[in-house]
Amino acid sequence: MTVHGFMPPYAGLMLQMAVIGRGFSGMMMAIALLKTVRRPFRLRLIDPMPTVSGGQALLTARSTEILNSRARDLSVSTGEPKDFTRWLQANAPFRQAVSAAIPGFGQIFVPKSTFSDYVYQRFSEALAERKDVTVQMSGESVSSVRPTENGQFEIAFEEGDAARVHDVILATGFGRKRAESRLVAMDAFSDGGHEGEHVVVLGSGLRAVDQVLQLRDGGFRGRITIVSRRGFLPQPHTRLPADAVFPNHPMPSNLRQIVRFVRDACAEAEENGWSWQATMNGLRKRARSLWASLPPSEKRQFNRHLRSIYDAHRNRLPADVHARLERELASGGTELRRGTALGTVRAGLRVRWAGETGESLFAASDVIDCRCLAPDLSEPVIAGLLRDGLAATDELDLGLAVNPAGELMGPKTRPVGLFAIGPLGLGSLPDIDLVPEIVTQAYAAAGLIETRAMPQLRAG
Ligand SMILES: Cc1cc2nc3c(=O)[nH]c(=O)nc-3n(C[C@H](O)[C@H](O)[C@H](O)COP(=O)(O)OP(=O)(O)OC[C@H]3O[C@@H](n4cnc5c(N)ncnc54)[C@H](O)[C@@H]3O)c2cc1C
Repeated sequence: MTVHGFMPPYAGLMLQMAVIGRGFSGMMMAIALLKTVRRPFRLRLIDPMPTVSGGQALLTARSTEILNSRARDLSVSTGEPKDFTRWLQANAPFRQAVSAAIPGFGQIFVPKSTFSDYVYQRFSEALAERKDVTVQMSGESVSSVRPTENGQFEIAFEEGDAARVHDVILATGFGRKRAESRLVAMDAFSDGGHEGEHVVVLGSGLRAVDQVLQLRDGGFRGRITIVSRRGFLPQPHTRLPADAVFPNHPMPSNLRQIVRFVRDACAEAEENGWSWQATMNGLRKRARSLWASLPPSEKRQFNRHLRSIYDAHRNRLPADVHARLERELASGGTELRRGTALGTVRAGLRVRWAGETGESLFAASDVIDCRCLAPDLSEPVIAGLLRDGLAATDELDLGLAVNPAGELMGPKTRPVGLFAIGPLGLGSLPDIDLVPEIVTQAYAAAGLIETRAMPQLRAG
């Protein structure tokens, strides 16, 4: 259908959108839409989790748990990199708790709950500015998203009903199972005790470290074993800020030479009084174009052999948290063992220890999976999109193929109006599971929604 006449193209049509998932990615997307899309719209924010906050993972954290990124990197306002630090400065309870001597707050690490408060406040303010927007919070689980004959999407809920919208933004993170297991793990050990018990934590990244420290904060006194295939734990941040530095000359194009180049750059930075962390910060700025330039075989090689080392150096722990982890390991209460998890049974973990060929049973009262290497593509809504040809996986089948603005790339076409924000795009965009990259992507998606025509009109 083509629309002619004097009416503006969207007159009489109310744009309807749905964001699936109210974690940080979902809430960030809502902020970006409220601040970017100038037309009136209705927005449904869907998540079975009962709370509305600045992000589910952030809200459920204990107040002692701190984020691993410096405050300067956590603004949710595009073009205003100091928005979060200004918010911290204006926040009286936070100022009382933190030494006033810290200039500007940019270099500090803050509790996750503080960041969640900031995100939620920015969401509320953005909503208060828009009398022409309706936001509905839905406590359902989405089971499928299907296109309709008139260019919209039908969202079906597990609970039975359905809704029609023009744009769907998937913000389901690593998947519902992962989000729920985070809560179960928090609850299971919240009563302290458990002296003789043994908990196995799978994975050795930030989530695993977070889990170990949460168990201790919750009073768990039993033994903990971190089981990881490669055994690389997150490295520490520098105490003083490490501004990005990186050699200016062109990088080689082959993986082996790139590794040597980065190693040399780290050594050179240290010789010149900077730190390897500053070089890694510089590398992160180039990661996206570097990743895009590698052929699939080298991407696979990177994932197999280098990803865990890269992750340990890019996702770093604040120096105090790192020191605490080292004390925990030195005390013997927590042990790191290299091995491949083969599955869990009632009695514990089936595992093949590094250097051994046979399978062993490792007795444990609980096994908590903190690996999160890739989003769960078997989640019904994602599996359905793949089956219906509305989405495709990236070259390595790690997640969904997306462009930097989060648009889903189907096997043949790019379905207009379907987006995936955050970790779902991990195989296409390095670091898209981190706050700064999610913020940039959310504004890019909102910008596209603002500028393009509505589906019914485009169909003509
Ligand atoms: C412990 C931890 C520490 C971190 N530290 C940092 C840090 O210091 N710096 C940084 O930049 N990043 C950090 N991150 C990473 C960053 O915050 C996460 O990548 C981000 O929180 C991902 O959020 P998300 O909204 O994409 O996913 P999630 O928080 O997992 O939220 C996804 C939501 O989608 C919902 N959902 C899933 N499927 C459905 C469905 N079918 N229907 C309806 N709802 C559904 C789930 O219930 C869930 O609430 C950290 C993450 C964690 C977990």
